[in-house]
Amino acid sequence: MMAQYLALKQQAEGCLLFYRMGDFFELFFEDAKIAASVLDIALTSRGEHGGAPIPMCGVPVHSAESYLARLIRAGCRVAIAEQTETPEEARKRAGSKALVARDIVRFVTAGTLTEDALLEPRRANVLAAVCAVRGVAGIAACDISTGRMELEECAPEAIPAALARLGATELVMAEDSGLDLPEAGERPARAFDSQRGSDRLMALHGVATLDGFGAFSRAMLAAAAGLIDYLEHVGRGNLPLLLPPVVREAGAFMAMDEATRASLEILSASSGGRKGSLIEAIDRCVTSAGARLLAEDLAAPLTDLAAIRARLELVSWLHDDPLLRGDLRAVLRAAPDVGRALGRIVAGRGSPRDLGQLRDGLSEAQRLQALLAARADRPALADSLIPALGGHGALIDLFARALVPAPPTERTNGGFIAAGYDAALDALRDAAGNSRRAIAALEARYREETGTPSLKIRHNGVLGYFIEVPARHADRLMAPDSGFTHRQTMAGAVRFNALALHEEASRIAEAGGHALAAEEAHFEDLTARAVAAREAIAMTAAALARIDVAAGQAERAAEGSWCLPHLSEDTALTIRGGRHPVVEAALAARGERFVANDCTLTPRDRLWLIGGPNMGGKSTFLRQNALIVILAQAGGFVPAEAAEIGIVDRLFSRVGAADNLARGRSTFMVEMVETAAILAQAGERSFVILDEVGRGTSTYDGLALAWAVAEAVHEANRSRCLFATHYHELARLAETCDALSLHHVRAREWKGDLVLLHELAEGPADKSYGLAVARLAGVPAPVVKRAKSVLDRLEKGRAATGGLAAGLDDLPLFAAAIEAAEEKVDALREKLASIDIDSLSPRAALDLLYDLKREL
Ligand code: ADP
Repeated sequence: MMAQYLALKQQAEGCLLFYRMGDFFELFFEDAKIAASVLDIALTSRGEHGGAPIPMCGVPVHSAESYLARLIRAGCRVAIAEQTETPEEARKRAGSKALVARDIVRFVTAGTLTEDALLEPRRANVLAAVCAVRGVAGIAACDISTGRMELEECAPEAIPAALARLGATELVMAEDSGLDLPEAGERPARAFDSQRGSDRLMALHGVATLDGFGAFSRAMLAAAAGLIDYLEHVGRGNLPLLLPPVVREAGAFMAMDEATRASLEILSASSGGRKGSLIEAIDRCVTSAGARLLAEDLAAPLTDLAAIRARLELVSWLHDDPLLRGDLRAVLRAAPDVGRALGRIVAGRGSPRDLGQLRDGLSEAQRLQALLAARADRPALADSLIPALGGHGALIDLFARALVPAPPTERTNGGFIAAGYDAALDALRDAAGNSRRAIAALEARYREETGTPSLKIRHNGVLGYFIEVPARHADRLMAPDSGFTHRQTMAGAVRFNALALHEEASRIAEAGGHALAAEEAHFEDLTARAVAAREAIAMTAAALARIDVAAGQAERAAEGSWCLPHLSEDTALTIRGGRHPVVEAALAARGERFVANDCTLTPRDRLWLIGGPNMGGKSTFLRQNALIVILAQAGGFVPAEAAEIGIVDRLFSRVGAADNLARGRSTFMVEMVETAAILAQAGERSFVILDEVGRGTSTYDGLALAWAVAEAVHEANRSRCLFATHYHELARLAETCDALSLHHVRAREWKGDLVLLHELAEGPADKSYGLAVARLAGVPAPVVKRAKSVLDRLEKGRAATGGLAAGLDDLPLFAAAIEAAEEKVDALREKLASIDIDSLSPRAALDLLYDLKREL
């Protein structure tokens, strides 16, 4: 057995091996140790290998799913080795000591799950494959639980941002591709071949050219090849549901990098979960598929005005018509998760219940179609969804006739095909039913014949049907001519068989076996019909999700008096009465009110420098405006009284290092790497929020960096920008930067206490209130008092020397400083460029070198 185990373990390629033994999956050696500690189950041992006992643990087959879920969540991958023959078959094949043959039937990995128990309902489960072809990165991503597949290409530096958007639960890449993705599993480089990718996709979708799906680059096709190859490997040759691939155009979505997503807590809060995130505050979807689509929308806000307006129009229509919205949501609420049921069916892991879900989901879609079609004032997006909601009449009818109302998840016991669907099956069931009734009648007859009222006919898994009487009545049945044959003697009872009983029991078994086989055949047939219609069903699922998202957005907007944003191609950002949906909800839970604030950035006033005390609401204000932009471009209403938004192509959010947990590199290093990315990428259509940048280092360094970064964003990037800082000295930037203005969050000292008003006002902050905040936070009075006397000293010193910014009076302008630096470099360059090296003598070359050095 160990030889077989070790051979399978070899094939498992580093996955934990679940080795089927009877009713258990057993794990051995290191696998057992890992599983025992992750699952918190007993580690035992058996036999020995190489002189040492073999560590072992096991999980029961019937509850394996929950254990698998925990292992997958802990980052493990699992190979399932099943018995591929029965012990009888093994004995027949190779004698009495034969070992049952086993094979790996499936790999279970985070990105290739379809089971509801292993998936989060409201989150897409994405598998991504990455490769690089001649300096261009290709990314292929799919969610096999719904079949969506997307291809894109980007510069290798942009891979982390693309992966952050995708939020993949599993990542594979070509080995030796030189990509720095430590979390990715490596696959053979030859699997990532663009020709193979296009061949596979064409074969998969039965087309002679991919042109109908879009224009795919070589990098995209190579990544697709790697993805399909991996799926095939994991499914042991079976491919899951894959819909035709969609190209993701680089410019069609607002670019956000990983740091921006994390700091804005869009899909998950910094604590890790959904709680406290933007999506948690706005998700009012009534279906899981809707919630998944909403997450996708928020992860990839649009930049195309027409596309955004189309979504907004639908939301607005549903917002203005609460009755229609209520009707649609009631229908949606009853619709099962069609997409995921289809994913399981196509992956060959479907159950009768999944077929039932298709039937119910598709018929709800039909009702939705009727509701929408009855309306004359439909917006264009609703119009375009209507066809996708229907067209399954024949399939729904068939499934409605074929299946019982609530089919079971287990198909081996039958009982899911409805009566009346198949006359032969009905006859088999009748025969079994008749025999069961006949057996009941036999019991009465035997009681009478033997004069034993306590006689019973019973059934168990080992003996089948048998007659049982108490031991004291057994003699009568034991008589040779009684017509009963003895089977078993128990303590206090004796069991018999009889010819008539045996005949009826055989009829039941035979009819039951035939009935099961008939149901199995129907299951295969119904499954094949669903698989044949998979693309149309997936489109219906997508249309349901889109309507749910729009209705949910409308619901949320109505709940919070949100407004329809107005989007345009210019570069203004005017938000009146804006609010932060997450902070507002948190305050509301404590019975406190959120103070709404305006943000009015225009091309002539595009950088706001915001000061004021800690806890005054600076971060909240910065983020609420970024979130409003995301919500608007995702196609939803926004928490404000009015919003005019010039479409943002890139959004950047940075938080000074002190707020950021270290991620291996020093926090200040992280802060500067992220800031460098903004300075390199942000442009006039971008929106940047910078929260206390420069805080992660010493005061002088920090002020100097904050100063230079603000200037650069103002002069060179020319982006819309909100810049929160506690350096008062930065206020002097307003003297030289004409599109920069000063703002502060207001605070008052009242009877010695600090009152934070959370209200934004124009002008520089008057003072920092640091000590007042400390007192508010409960720092002991003697410490605050001591700090006050230190502060007095410091301020006296500042008055005498001119303070931190004293030396800045004759600082040249940012642009002038850059130009000067560039000019010098250019003079040297010109000289170098003009040298004709071949005409120089060694002596002359040496002199020239001295010259150049001097000039430098
Ligand atoms: P800062 O960045 O100035 O230190 P924060 O934005 O972190 O301040 O805000 C601190 C706290 O103040 C928040 O957690 C919230 O409870 C409260 N707050 C912030 N903005 C508002 C607002 N507009 N209305 C009401 N309370 C607010």
